Amino acid sequence: MSFLKKLFGGSPSTSPQKNYYVFSVKCRRCGEVIEGRVDLNNDLSVEYEDDNEVYYSRKTLMGSGKCFQRVEVEFKFSSTRTLIDQQVSGGEFIS
Ligand SMILES: [Zn+2]
Repeated sequence: MSFLKKLFGGSPSTSPQKNYYVFSVKCRRCGEVIEGRVDLNNDLSVEYEDDNEVYYSRKTLMGSGKCFQRVEVEFKFSSTRTLIDQQVSGGEFIS
């Protein structure tokens, strides 16, 4: 683990640097585009697959209009915070 931290420049906790993954989804019901972001420092929960660390983040988004459809998203990142999988229900990802 310390090797990986050195390799990928794991920063000390005093670092002010913020690291966000930004995404947009489109509500399946009304078509509203909702932007969201994942705080890669605070929003992730670690799980282990085989011997690999993977990081999950799940969020529920709602548009600002009258539509009450919830759009649920789930992201999976590698230990280097590279996105490796994403799921959405109630809407679709747009890029
Ligand atoms: Zn909607």
